[in-house]
Formats: sequence, C-alpha cells, structure tokens
Amino acid sequence: MIIVMKKDATPEDVAHVVERLESIDSQAHISEGRFRTVIGALGDRVRIQQLPWEAMPGVERAVPVLKPFKFVSRDFQEDDTVIETRGVSIGGGTFTAIAGPCAVEDRDLLFRAAEAVKKAGATVLRGDAFKPRTSPYSFQGLGEAGLEMLAEAREEFDMPFVAEILDPRDIELVSSYADILRVGTRNMSNYPLLTEVGRQPKPVMLKRGFTATIEEWLNAAEYIYKEGNHEILMVERGIRTFETAARNTLDITAVPILKGLSHLPVIVDPSHAAGHRYLVAPLARTSVAAGADGFMVDVHPDPELAKVDGAQALLPEEFAELMDSIRRLVAALGPQE
Ligand code: PEP
Ligand code: MN
Repeated sequence: MIIVMKKDATPEDVAHVVERLESIDSQAHISEGRFRTVIGALGDRVRIQQLPWEAMPGVERAVPVLKPFKFVSRDFQEDDTVIETRGVSIGGGTFTAIAGPCAVEDRDLLFRAAEAVKKAGATVLRGDAFKPRTSPYSFQGLGEAGLEMLAEAREEFDMPFVAEILDPRDIELVSSYADILRVGTRNMSNYPLLTEVGRQPKPVMLKRGFTATIEEWLNAAEYIYKEGNHEILMVERGIRTFETAARNTLDITAVPILKGLSHLPVIVDPSHAAGHRYLVAPLARTSVAAGADGFMVDVHPDPELAKVDGAQALLPEEFAELMDSIRRLVAALGPQE
C-alpha cells in the first residue's frame, strides 16, 4: 500500500500515519517529493488495508500497489533519483558518460585510458579488478592491486570510479575503494549479493540479467532498496535473443519503459550489448535519444593488448568523436522531462 499525503499535510499528519502503521507491526518508508510526501507501507497486506487511511488528517489517498516492486516504482517516488558521488550527479535530466577499460591490466594502460576519457568529457571512470569470465581459465582480474590502481587514477584524474563486485565476501574490500559498486549481468539474481550491497553505503549499479524481464530486474533493485541503500543505477546491457549478429540485443525499449515505471537513473552499456567496436557509437547515440541518463562505454588505449573485451573497446580518438556527437545530440534534444 502507498499512502499519498496531501500537498499541505503537516509533519504531524505524516507522523500520525507512521504511528498507525507501526501499531500494526508494519514499516513505513517515507519519500519526500517536490510537492508531496508518500509513505510506503510494508507489512501484513490485510491488516494494512483494514485501517481507514483516507479518514486520517493530511491523507489524500491510499493506493494498493499491484506491482511486486514498490519502492523503486514511480508510484512511490515521483521525482527522479539523483545520485551524487564525488561531485558528479547522475540522473535527473543530465547525461553522464562513464568510460574506461573493461578490466584493469596494468597501471600504464589504465592511466592512458583514464586520461583520454577524462579529456573527452567522461566524468566517471570504469575499470574492473574482479572479472566474471565465462571460462575459468580466462584472466580473472588483478584483485586488490587493480583496485589500488583505480584509486590512484581517481586521484590523478579527479574522477570517481565504478568497479564490479562478484562475491559478497569482497564487499568490504571493493566498497572501501570504489565509488560505485557494479553488480553484473550474471549476478542480477544473486539475492544474497543484492542484499549485501544494499547494506553498504556506496551507490550500486545493477546490470540487467541477460535473460531477465524488466520486472525481474526491478525486483532485483527492490532487494537492494529495501535494505536501506536507495542509490541504484539501472544498466541495460543487452539481452540474449535468437539474433547472433551482435553479442547481445540491446533492448532500447527498456529505457523509456523503465523511466516510466521507476524513478531510478537508467544507463545504457552499448559496449557489452554490441560486442563489436563499430556498433558502439550508433547504439550510444540511440541511448541518448531514447532518454537514458547516461552510458557506460569500454575505451582502451591499445585494444590489442586488452585482456578482456578488446573487440568492443573504442580507441581514445573514437571515444572523443563519439562525445562530440553526443554533445550535439544533447543540445538538439533540449531539456529532458
Ligand atoms: C562489464 O561491464 O565489464 C561486464 C562484465 O558486463 P556484464 O555484466 O554486462 O556482462
Ligand atoms: Mn567487459
């Protein structure tokens, strides 16, 4: 149930609703919007429905939530969630470019990539120290040494960074370095991992499982949100279909659908969707036109030396060209609602 307060409801009215919820052993989650406060009620559905909410002062209406996800829905929070990390805001009408190598291979390659993406206008660096590889014999990442290099690059180029978290046992380690933790496509339904990232303080980027529906993906976000971490970024990275010409099929439809269903920022990863360099820029531009809050692109100074995903990495000059076209596109589209 979602209890929508009137525009002129007082703090006492809100406190009264919270008190009534607590009196029936339910939890109240308060969302203060620009115009009104909304209270999400979590507990025994039947007991919650029995109370005369609309008779209480300051209550406009009580709406049963039919969707299985509550707190990540637009019904619960009308305004876009905006995530702030080290002076960078993501969501709420601005477009954020996140870029860097798929994996950290060594300090020099990482620094060259970071310098190039910063110069071209990216504001968040990507790079992984723990890689989820299909083959157990492939390069698995540098671990903590890689996180240290990312932290050095953050200082040198003044950019927050996002890195993947694979294992709940590494949460403290990764969140002590990274500014944003990423849950990858293979772990979108790893519920213990979602619960743990929901209990740590850093924002979480949640990639769509490659066979997940939008509803399953939003439910995965709900796992994180309900633990207390409300800073979640949704990343569309392509789904598996019958089509094999690209690595995955970028589901661009998911962008406006998600923007309608949820208040969370939506990011597109054209690199992991495409799998081929030549497809990355057109898909990146498409994501801007579809209303995404940003994209995350693989960039490598020397893709031949990349230990992971070299075929889809843009060269620094290609990324700079892409960013030029994105700036023109953003200006042509005007302010997004
Ligand atoms: C990645 O971003 O490097 C990655 C492994 O992506 P995904 O989880 O989408 O495959
Ligand atoms: Mn990759």
